[in-house]
Amino acid sequence: IEQTAYQNDKLAMLGKIAAAIAHEIRNPLTSIRGFIQLLKPLLLQLGKEEYARIILAEIDRANDIIYEFLNSSKPSAPMKQREYINFLLKEVIMLCESEALMKGCGINLESYDQDMAISIDVKQVKQVILNIIRNAMDAIGEQEQEHVGRIDVITRREGSFAEIKIRDNGKGMDTTTLSRLFDPFFTTKVAGTGLGLSVSYRIIRNHGGSIRVASNPGEGTEFNIYLPLVE
Ligand code: ADP
Repeated sequence: IEQTAYQNDKLAMLGKIAAAIAHEIRNPLTSIRGFIQLLKPLLLQLGKEEYARIILAEIDRANDIIYEFLNSSKPSAPMKQREYINFLLKEVIMLCESEALMKGCGINLESYDQDMAISIDVKQVKQVILNIIRNAMDAIGEQEQEHVGRIDVITRREGSFAEIKIRDNGKGMDTTTLSRLFDPFFTTKVAGTGLGLSVSYRIIRNHGGSIRVASNPGEGTEFNIYLPLVE
């Protein structure tokens, strides 16, 4: 599936809107944070210092989300560093493990080739893998209760590229969904943003890589990501 000029326009616009909104939300958050800090001693006297901790943690979380969103939708050049792909995947899988456990699905990592170094913006590429694994968990969640969910992450060397295969046995997609998958704001979920894959697509493209998807309704989906190896 190729990205069209139309998608690029939409993404550029999205980047501008995101930057404006993020700026407008960050300022009030900063002042809320400051005032909560000031109120901390009072809450302590009331034996409610826990409230301050929760408020501060939630403000920080909101800030993180804005940061991520801004980072991913802004058309910026990646800040590249050398990283081993299998190491990065282990870290992302660890992040997902509690969520996967709750949803009763296993995540397996299988590496056919070791020491595959890639030059990447670690934060951005981690976000791509997270998006795809989260989507896989959602797709598994939409199967029947007794369905045993399984996500396989498989890496191997493919010429001058590292191939990352992420396969799930979730609900799969029909051809209509498959053809719109990377469109900004396309979602089939009630609480979806439809941004995850359009942003992921662009991140991988900015790294000189590509993404391919294959899916069968009722059987599952397979994402193949290719990133250029460094020697
Ligand atoms: P969101 O997750 O917010 O809906 P995405 O851009 O990440 O946005 O995904 C777009 C749509 O692609 C999803 O709403 C879903 O319909 C479909 N999709 C993505 N990954 C999968 C998958 N592994 N299995 C089935 N459908 C998927």
